[in-house]
Amino acid sequence: MVSSGNGITVKIRDRKYVLDPQRPARADAIFVSHAHVDHLHSPGLDTPLIASKETGLLAKARGYELGPIREEFEGFELYDSGHILGSRAALIEGEVFYTGDFAGRPRGFMGKGRVARSPILIVEATYGLDRYIFPAVGKIVDEVNRLIASLFAKGVPVVLMGYPLGKAQLLTYLFSSWEPIYLHSSIRNLNRVYRALGVDLREDLISYTEAQERGLLDRRPWILLTPAFGGRSPFIRRLKGRYGAVTILFTGWAIDNGYKYARAVDYAFPLSDHCDHRELLELVRAVNPEKVYTVHGFAVELAAELRRYGYDAEPLLGVQASMMDYVK
Ligand SMILES: [Zn+2]
Ligand SMILES: [Zn+2]
Repeated sequence: MVSSGNGITVKIRDRKYVLDPQRPARADAIFVSHAHVDHLHSPGLDTPLIASKETGLLAKARGYELGPIREEFEGFELYDSGHILGSRAALIEGEVFYTGDFAGRPRGFMGKGRVARSPILIVEATYGLDRYIFPAVGKIVDEVNRLIASLFAKGVPVVLMGYPLGKAQLLTYLFSSWEPIYLHSSIRNLNRVYRALGVDLREDLISYTEAQERGLLDRRPWILLTPAFGGRSPFIRRLKGRYGAVTILFTGWAIDNGYKYARAVDYAFPLSDHCDHRELLELVRAVNPEKVYTVHGFAVELAAELRRYGYDAEPLLGVQASMMDYVK
C-alpha cells in the first residue's frame, strides 16, 4: 500500500497517490509538500497536483512551473508542517498521514507543524538519531547576536549562510536589527516572494552586487546573507581574502562536531527547519499510528528505534538520491 521509487506511492483501495515525486507520474493525484528542490518536479502529465499556493509561487520563483494547483482535493486534508512557508503535511483518506519535511518548534515567524491522528504514518527521519537534539532557538539567536557584536566591535564583516529558501528568510527576520545587511540575489528574490505572501521581512535590504557597485563593502563591518556555499567556494574565499569576513552556517548538521570543518566555515549553529530527534518521537506519539514508515536521513535507524518501542516500523528507502540533497 505504501512504496517508494519515484517519490512515495500510496495505494488506498482502487486509488493511487504519488507524494513528492522527482519525475512526472500517472496517478489519481500528486502531492507536492513544499518547494525545496528535493521535493519538486516538472509535471509533464495532466495528473491533478495538490500543493499550497505558496508552494506554487515559491516553486515558480525557482524555475519550476507546477501548472494548475489544487489546494483542496477530495480525500486530502492538508496540515501546516511548519518547515518553510507553504509547506504542508497531508492526511490521505483519513488513513495515511504524510509529514513531508516537518518542524517541531516555532522559529521567528514560522510556527511548528500540526499533526493528525492516523493509522498509518509516513514520517521524515532527517535527524532520526538520538544525538540530534537542538538547543532552544532563543538561545542560538542570543549566542549569534553576541558573536556578531564582538566581531562588529572589531570591524569584522559577517557572512550568515543557510538554505536560500526557508532558512535565509528566517535569518533575515531573526537578525534584522543589524545594520547594514546585504543579500545574495537568490535570497533577495525569495524574500520578495515571502513578502508578497504576507511575511514581514525588511524591504530595504539591497543585494550584494548593488552594495559592491556602490562601494559599500569597503565600509566595514556589514552582514551578508548567502546560500549555504561553504568556506571553499570561490565566492566565500574572495570575501574572506578581500574583507576578512567571518562565516557562520546554520543547519541541524552543526550538531556534528566535525561539520564546520567539513564545510570549512568558522562557526556552525544547529538552527533547523526540521524536527530534532526528540520532536520526531513526540510526533510519532501524537499521530498514534499502527504502522510507521520512515523516510530520508536516518530512516533505517529511526525505524529500528521505533520497533524497540513496540511500533511496527520500517524505512522507505530510495526516496531520495543522497544526503547532499539537504545541502541545496
Ligand atoms: Zn525541505
Ligand atoms: Zn526535504
